[in-house]
Amino acid sequence: MTAPGSSNSTVLLRTTKHLVLNYFSSGDLLQDNMLWGTEVGVLANTFIDQGKLMPDDVMPWPDLHELKNLTQFSWQLYGFPRTLPQTEALDGAYQVDTAVHLNVAFEVIKQCLTACWIHLARGCVYNIDFNPPKTVSIDDWSGEPLI
Ligand code: AMP
Repeated sequence: MTAPGSSNSTVLLRTTKHLVLNYFSSGDLLQDNMLWGTEVGVLANTFIDQGKLMPDDVMPWPDLHELKNLTQFSWQLYGFPRTLPQTEALDGAYQVDTAVHLNVAFEVIKQCLTACWIHLARGCVYNIDFNPPKTVSIDDWSGEPLI
């Protein structure tokens, strides 16, 4: 749990590697559905485009279904649950051992986001400080402008 822009995906990848965990990302699941053009994906596209969360009655079930495939491993959840009903659905289905709260100062978040350049179509993220593009504000691969 943390504020958006707290480099939570970086932390997730590090803890996943160090603790040899599997991880489950609801954002990745939605992204896959969007690529496959499923009903959930089409819905997700609409809500994500508007900067909204997927409604609870649509969101938890594909997630929980997906989690059933992971029960033989220890795993981390990323991006889920995001609302109280999702939390209750998860709590009813699985026993969660640990919740991690990343407490990142607002100034640090601002600094990270200011250094961040994104190619939306490819979902590629650069950082001026430690992973800059070859040319300022241009995607290395497509030559298109970054935002
Ligand atoms: P993320 O990459 O985790 O930020 O997810 C990208 C987008 O997918 C979010 O901005 C939401 O619109 C949607 N999303 C991901 N996970 C959830 C969730 N658990 N509940 C509702 N919407 C979600």
